[in-house]
Amino acid sequence: MDYKILLIKYAEIGTKGKNRYVFEEMMCKRMRARLKPHGKFEVRREYGRIFVEAFSDYDFDDVMQALGTVFGIVGICPVRVVEDLTYESISKAVCEYIGEEYPDKNFTFKVNARRNNKSFPKTSMELNCDLGADLLNCYQDLKVDVHKPDVLLQVEVRNVAYIYSRTIPGPGGLPVGTNGKGMTLLSGGIDSPVAAYMIAKRGVSVEAVYFHAPPYTSERAKQKVIDLAKLVSQYAGPIKLHIVNFTDIQLAIYDNCPHDELTIIMKRIMYKMAQELALENDCQCIITGESIGQVSSQTSQSLYVIDRAADKLPVFRPCIGLDKQEIIDISEKIGTYETSILPYEDCCTTFVAKHPVTRPSLEAIEKSEQALVGKIEDLYKKAIENIEVVNCW
Ligand code: ATP
Ligand code: MG
Repeated sequence: MDYKILLIKYAEIGTKGKNRYVFEEMMCKRMRARLKPHGKFEVRREYGRIFVEAFSDYDFDDVMQALGTVFGIVGICPVRVVEDLTYESISKAVCEYIGEEYPDKNFTFKVNARRNNKSFPKTSMELNCDLGADLLNCYQDLKVDVHKPDVLLQVEVRNVAYIYSRTIPGPGGLPVGTNGKGMTLLSGGIDSPVAAYMIAKRGVSVEAVYFHAPPYTSERAKQKVIDLAKLVSQYAGPIKLHIVNFTDIQLAIYDNCPHDELTIIMKRIMYKMAQELALENDCQCIITGESIGQVSSQTSQSLYVIDRAADKLPVFRPCIGLDKQEIIDISEKIGTYETSILPYEDCCTTFVAKHPVTRPSLEAIEKSEQALVGKIEDLYKKAIENIEVVNCW
């Protein structure tokens, strides 16, 4: 069944006081963009509510999926509209609605009517009683439960009447674009796309940087990261992906630094470059996919030493307290898992030492990095100058 109107519910935006309309507008903008391929829709704010009105046929599941990617939405209620504002028409529509919506009538219900249109002759209380009685007459198996009903039937009488009872859950969060922008270190793995998704869910727009080391990492590995950025962009909006050729830097580290410190030193250079790109592109934070203790470079000491390389911006790691399985569950939910598990090489694993340090000291690492002075500056500059940008959406 197609519904002409969808009522959009949000939660946290409601606490934003005077700024609330900024959040609502941003959410409407994202909804319009996501609905565009699915038909003709109007998204509007009305009576402190957000409504979607359909002006063409549409596929219900596709539209629910599209709206399910818009952060800020906590619920979507498909609404039946009654244009003829008489009690008889509303009552008839309510009975038809319950008839069609709930084939099995063995449940309890409560009518929750709201008469905002004061010219309508019945009060909210009268509507509750009379519509409840009409429903009991129509369907003998129904029972009323005013405390814990199985079905709470909402009836709103405005210039038309709205009937609804179901809520399809939305993704929650805050609309993307309401909390600045972050630079994600995006690899082809499972964790960093989830990290980007989680930060985008808090309203942060996302850019991304991928460090690629041809010929040690393949074109396929790069394409995989582009594909992942496109998948995340379904939620986060368009993502500008910066692809850095990291090979020469990596070889210089390999040739000049102790091998048990390779990963840490490499990560420090990645973070430093990510910070530079972030500042150039108006990002206020760096986002990565580490989870504490997952591998040697993700111990507290390692993360401390890596963080010192990016000292001008906060580094956000939303997966930090999640188990691998919890991260996998999110990646499955958002549709990145299948792509993330495709076989690929990452520059971090290509040059990995057999026994990497797990408790690096900042002094020791900085001392080892001295060996790069005079050798790496030009390579660093060249890598920045030759960045390839791919706009993913
Ligand atoms: P992921 O699943 O995100 O690849 P991981 O478990 O493989 O993470 P590491 O390889 O230690 O962990 O990387 C930690 C984080 O560093 C990643 O989550 C990502 O944010 C960043 N990172 C690693 N490799 C790259 C890369 N080649 N390009 C950009 N960022 C990277
Ligand atoms: Mg990885």
